[in-house]
Amino acid sequence: MLRFEDARQLVVTQAEIGKSVRPTITREVSDALGYVLADEVRTDREYPPFDRATRDGYAVRAGDAGAAKTLRCIAEIKAGDTVTSALPAGACIQIMTGAAVPAGADAVVMIEFTSRDGDAITFQRETKAGQNIVQRGSEAGAGEVALSPGLRLGFAELAIAAQVGAAKLVCYKKPRVAILSTGDEIVPVTETPGPFQIRNSNSVSLGAQVRLAGGEPVLLGNAGDRVEELSAKIELGLREDILVLSGGVSMGKYDLVESVLKSLGAEFYFDAVAIRPGKPAVFGRVRDKLVFGLPGNPVSTMVTFQLFVIPTMDVLSGAPARPLALPQAVLGEALHEKTGLTHFLPARIQWESGRGVVKALRWHGSGDIGSLGRANCFLVVPADRQDIAIGEMVSVILRGDVV
Ligand code: AMP
Ligand code: MG
Repeated sequence: MLRFEDARQLVVTQAEIGKSVRPTITREVSDALGYVLADEVRTDREYPPFDRATRDGYAVRAGDAGAAKTLRCIAEIKAGDTVTSALPAGACIQIMTGAAVPAGADAVVMIEFTSRDGDAITFQRETKAGQNIVQRGSEAGAGEVALSPGLRLGFAELAIAAQVGAAKLVCYKKPRVAILSTGDEIVPVTETPGPFQIRNSNSVSLGAQVRLAGGEPVLLGNAGDRVEELSAKIELGLREDILVLSGGVSMGKYDLVESVLKSLGAEFYFDAVAIRPGKPAVFGRVRDKLVFGLPGNPVSTMVTFQLFVIPTMDVLSGAPARPLALPQAVLGEALHEKTGLTHFLPARIQWESGRGVVKALRWHGSGDIGSLGRANCFLVVPADRQDIAIGEMVSVILRGDVV
């Protein structure tokens, strides 16, 4: 059976093969979080645009301001002031953080290392040329690429765009991800379930996961376990960029997703992965659209989405597939698991003096959403490990939406 790392690689490869040029949309810089940039952004001028003081203090010629030397303060420069006159030899100018250093000065001395008596400023230490000044153009030249296409816009990227005056950004449209749950027992959250029915939580969690991963969910509701109904709703889903189904991929008599996809012409790349939860996960292509059949147990649905759908969305967003981050943590409580499948256990990582300590939570299997509500990560137990002792290093996958 396929290892999850190989299944993930397969997904990325297929997403790359099938992708077409994405349509673009123009977003205000303050409203572009999570979009992928389609056009490059260039600097409009040098950065910094002037020699900038990085401390409050005195602009000096370094040679004039040795330890125990005293200079006369002849002026003051605030951030934003237009600076026209140069600093003459044998004097200093009081300067504020963010202000332009006057011609002639080659250092700024922090106010903390001076004493003042009227106009007379005495320096306590030696002064080095260049200290506390960022030279004009040292961060970026004019007309340089500040942000490249394919970059996902986070808060820092948006700040860069704002800095260089890119008030509008050409971005790729977010991938539209159709979400279709399946099962005769499933009712909408707005309805009261009968004694043997359950509410559709998967469509809600999948919608949230799609949004977090930078996509636009298209909620198609639920399809009962009947061929015609499933086919018709799958057809609707095939209009979007990606179709994600939940449920109906196990071995039960009414698990129809795979056979219905097949009747619609699906080519399958895998229909099982060596993981628990999530083993029956299905991935294929119907006509030109990528389709995932995720197992219906809520924790399985969430894990398999995180492992396989997110990198697909990345590629279809115009960005590189993000690597699966597997940070290491110290195991806080011994584990005993069956071998053969890689296990993803709902777990809680706590940060104790800077290092992560992780414990698996008690749970009742992959239907137990409550356990995931208490979890902030999945603890990864490799397929060949039966016993892991307290204190050993293990990998985790952070949920990413809670701490
Ligand atoms: P299935 O994968 O269809 O065999 O479903 C496995 C388990 O997940 C069953 O207990 C289902 O009732 C449950 N399940 C399936 N779909 C959903 C859903 N949309 N929301 C909550 N639970 C679900
Ligand atoms: Mg079902």
